[in-house]
Amino acid sequence: MSATSMDGTPSVDGETWFELVFDIPANQAFTYRIDEKGEAAVGKRAMVPFGKRGRDSLGFIVATREAPPEGLSESQIKQIRRVVDTDPVFDDRDIALAEWIAAYYLCGIGQAIATMIPSGRRLVSYPSLSGGSDDIAAAPLELSEEQITALESIISPIPGPRSPIPELFYLYGITGSGKTEVFLRAAEWMLKQGKSVIYLVPEIALTHQTAELIGRRFGSAAATLHSGMTSSARFAEWSRIRRGEAPIVVGPRSAVFAPVHNLGLIIIDEEHDGSYKSGNTPRYHARQTAIRRCSVEGAKLVMGSATPSAEAWKLMAEGTIKRLDLSRRLAGGSMPEIKAVNLAKTAGCLTEELKEEIRITARMGRQTILFLNRRGFAHCFHCPSCGCEHKCRRCSVSLIWHKSKGRALCHYCGYSEPPPSACPQCGSLEAGYRGFGTEMIEEEVRRTFPELRIRRADADTVGKSGMLEETIAQFKAGLVDILLGTQMVAKGLNFPGVRLVGVVLADTGLHMPDFRATERTFSLIVQVAGRAGRYFPDGKVIVQTLRMGDTVISRSCALDVDGFFNAELAQRQALQFPPYTRIIRLNARSREAARADTAMERLASIAAPLIPADADMLGPSECPIGIINGNHRRQLILRGKSMGTLHAAARILMERYDKGRDAKVYVEIDVDPVSLL
Ligand code: ADP
Ligand code: ZN
Ligand code: ZN
Repeated sequence: MSATSMDGTPSVDGETWFELVFDIPANQAFTYRIDEKGEAAVGKRAMVPFGKRGRDSLGFIVATREAPPEGLSESQIKQIRRVVDTDPVFDDRDIALAEWIAAYYLCGIGQAIATMIPSGRRLVSYPSLSGGSDDIAAAPLELSEEQITALESIISPIPGPRSPIPELFYLYGITGSGKTEVFLRAAEWMLKQGKSVIYLVPEIALTHQTAELIGRRFGSAAATLHSGMTSSARFAEWSRIRRGEAPIVVGPRSAVFAPVHNLGLIIIDEEHDGSYKSGNTPRYHARQTAIRRCSVEGAKLVMGSATPSAEAWKLMAEGTIKRLDLSRRLAGGSMPEIKAVNLAKTAGCLTEELKEEIRITARMGRQTILFLNRRGFAHCFHCPSCGCEHKCRRCSVSLIWHKSKGRALCHYCGYSEPPPSACPQCGSLEAGYRGFGTEMIEEEVRRTFPELRIRRADADTVGKSGMLEETIAQFKAGLVDILLGTQMVAKGLNFPGVRLVGVVLADTGLHMPDFRATERTFSLIVQVAGRAGRYFPDGKVIVQTLRMGDTVISRSCALDVDGFFNAELAQRQALQFPPYTRIIRLNARSREAARADTAMERLASIAAPLIPADADMLGPSECPIGIINGNHRRQLILRGKSMGTLHAAARILMERYDKGRDAKVYVEIDVDPVSLL
């Protein structure tokens, strides 16, 4: 990239030619002539004619050049029609990071830039979103011994020359052990050194809670980014950060790109959370991206969780990540008593034990959380006479009966139809729904406890923005006795009044054909259990299960993280799955099954000779969910000891594949996939 002035002044030295990239899967820049007004500059977005039809498209100006590319005359080069931004919205540091994203996640550099930068436009004046006030919260807590030790390790410089690997820390401690306080102190210290901090949190619920806390602590020095904001609000916060007015930024995954000045620290709260991995191209992971940023910008990285990911656990065991333990609850609570209960012989979805504990809790004037990771009323329609299952017309998954809507609904594509009253294939009246969702639990809980105030929080009830916040606020204020719901009630929320947590069915994720299924189940149970007894020592957790002897269930109930990972990592090593190997997944989808198959076979035959010696190839095969929304899905998995050689193979593979590719098949690459469904 050429060195252009980055302060937004039009190209004084008379640059005429600019290189633009677009939000497309190509690693190529295109040359354009300066716009009529002469506003073009590196770091701005511009509308230019692009593609075969020359339609106006948004491009990102990434470089200047002295002359048109060889072989092109000046008249052949199109002109920039209109420059979008008055001031640059990205700089050389962002471009370098985008180049890394493109190389690591095998996408176009324009796709990377488009992901990094909020799509909004500058507003003339926008009130500051966070805090607004500068009065900083009251007397600070006195840190515990463990907190002090952790904080000191994080902030003290390591002697000697800077290593290419950034300093990585992990605050490992049960929920409520004071991790947040250590994060905040480390952030405070960094700000005092004149450095900036990025504080990453999982999606949605937790963003607000942490943003509030940080707003109170740091006033207008804090900026908040989250997906609920309008794009212009996001853009306004982004601009404030870029101007250096907000040295501490809190937000989900994409906040890892925040254009802070002089980065000193990135914090990743709840490191194990799946939302740190993007579900769209580029499928970047915030943790990997944070490590990259920290190493380039000389910053430190601190992660934290009660249930680290298997990757992080292994790196801690090897000493690459420095583990800092917090072993006690500090606000008067202790870890709750956790009991596994057999659900097999119960007619409804609540065992006698769980009902009794709900009663006791209500009598004490305290609160209950009921958790189930499935929304809707009932799952899987099944006919015992002919074996028919009621599946979506467009996907290879069962329709879920939503009683309140009176429809059977597909959770993957939104298709719905009236629920059948008899078997659609053989007419048998024996056929019906089995399995339960949050809607059915709500019905049973209301019937069993008519005198209690009950609220449900899942994607169906809190779809409208603000609803989840309202439900949470009511629960926090003690206006609700039982909060029941999906993940939304499990993640990081901090409710003082909670005595009892009931996991209605712990096994829902275990049958998933994914090597991370047990890890996810373990971490979810431990996380949900952590919602109980944060402030009082009498917390109770009832874990209902149909797999009484299962070690995942018993280890999560014993909060035996060591035992779990010893077994889990041994298994992963035996089966050669991450973190002992690295994976690149190629996913092909098409309306026509035959086309998807052909494309996959071609990919596999090109890949075969490219596979490095320390790697292998799984598939091609149908994805576990074979059809989604009418698209037939196939996959090929490249698996190897080193990402370097896998990357090289995948790059050549895609180049060769693209030369004769079928336009009716969409191929997507996922580096370090977190889900193989
Ligand atoms: P975690 O992030 O590990 O889940 P938090 O940081 O939310 O835990 O802390 C849980 C509770 O403990 C909070 O209410 C917090 O104010 C309190 N707390 C944290 N550190 C201390 C301390 N040193 N002394 C007393 N209470 C503390
Ligand atoms: Zn039938
Ligand atoms: Zn569907």
